[in-house]
Amino acid sequence: MSPQRKKAVIVGAGIAGLATALRLHRAGWRTVVVERAPERRTGGYGVTFAGLGYDAAERMGVLPALTERRIIPDALVYVKPTGETAFTVPGPTVRAMTAERSLTLLRGDIEDVLHAAVREHADIRFGTVVEDIAANALQVRATLSDGSTETADLLVGADGLHSATRARVFGPESDFRRDLGHVVGVLMLDRRPDAAPAGATASMTDRGRTLAVIDLGHGRSAAFFGYRAADPAADLAEGPHRALRRVYGDAGWVAPEILARLDETDAVYFDTVSQMVVDRWSSGRVVLLGDAAWCVTLFAGYGSALAVGGADLLGAALERHGDDIGAALAEWEAGLRPEVERKQRLGRRVKGLYAPPDRFRLWLRDLPLRTASWPPVGRMLRRRLQIRG
Ligand SMILES: Cc1cc2nc3c(=O)[nH]c(=O)nc-3n(C[C@H](O)[C@H](O)[C@H](O)COP(=O)(O)OP(=O)(O)OC[C@H]3O[C@@H](n4cnc5c(N)ncnc54)[C@H](O)[C@@H]3O)c2cc1C
Repeated sequence: MSPQRKKAVIVGAGIAGLATALRLHRAGWRTVVVERAPERRTGGYGVTFAGLGYDAAERMGVLPALTERRIIPDALVYVKPTGETAFTVPGPTVRAMTAERSLTLLRGDIEDVLHAAVREHADIRFGTVVEDIAANALQVRATLSDGSTETADLLVGADGLHSATRARVFGPESDFRRDLGHVVGVLMLDRRPDAAPAGATASMTDRGRTLAVIDLGHGRSAAFFGYRAADPAADLAEGPHRALRRVYGDAGWVAPEILARLDETDAVYFDTVSQMVVDRWSSGRVVLLGDAAWCVTLFAGYGSALAVGGADLLGAALERHGDDIGAALAEWEAGLRPEVERKQRLGRRVKGLYAPPDRFRLWLRDLPLRTASWPPVGRMLRRRLQIRG
């Protein structure tokens, strides 16, 4: 008789949760995925998907589907608040600075591909949350808002930066959150503003605030706001509609047009740029994964890669250790933590480059970009941003 299949409850159907469900399915586990949102999210923002995540996606068999969705990075156009072009980094230079084993993708497209690969094999429940977690040395019991109780070998908290699993099992968010002094807002646009160039990422930075319009191809564009904030939590409480208008009201270029479009949508991603510094990612039969555990932030450009790579490494460790789940979790964390801490350090180091507060520091930031076509500068940028070739 074959041994009983192990079972996991996974909280969150973002990149981390879906990748974990897929990898655990490959390892022979049954999974129940609990997602708070009533249905799948779409869109999101453009992410660079490379390194550990790219390698894991290849092993998990989803790389061809991800590659089909890739956005080919094109020119970077730097715009002044008047709308005039300050300088352009041409497409070939941008592509030369991009690692070979790397894709630019919409966050929602990574979720789509993972969802398509796993949906037949996992019990995914939308509009559902965990109401209680009780664990002993051998199993964990989750009481769900749909009225059911699931008993499992492992519960994976993949519920993002503001993880309820982390708050319930490890402690309040404020114990772990390290704010990087910025707020970010992203919204998808159904048409590109006329003043934003086609086939390019155009951005304007002025006095601690950046606004970018990214042409994602296939008729899709996204607007990206990122600004310095003295009290990011207060901006979050204010909400995107009011905070973005307050900060960008006099920003020029395409800001008035995009702020006017804010009223047409509620689907605005709006959050503080914060890292999670959790000194142990597991407690008994509960483990955190993805932004819930480590959130390296957009400044590191590596969170989706760590979510998929972390899920793959977790599955491999669980396969290796069989019934000794504690040993698997300890080995997994010891192997992954150095890479996570390296990317957190990178995030903290480059945070000042996003929206320099004055013209001199903006000029200093832009200097290497203006000369990026020169190979030694291109190599220096790749090293500084930890881009693997
Ligand atoms: C603007 C921006 C740009 C970025 N750029 C890059 C980049 O270039 N490269 C890169 O690799 N990464 C990038 N990242 C980071 C990357 O997007 C994240 O690290 C990654 O998406 C994290 O995935 P996750 O599944 O851990 O968390 P999330 O995406 O937050 O998913 C968590 C899921 O859990 C659900 N949930 C939340 N609470 C509950 C609950 N209580 N119960 C049930 N479900 C719940 C949520 O609805 C969501 O579906 C960027 C992030 C931002 C914001």
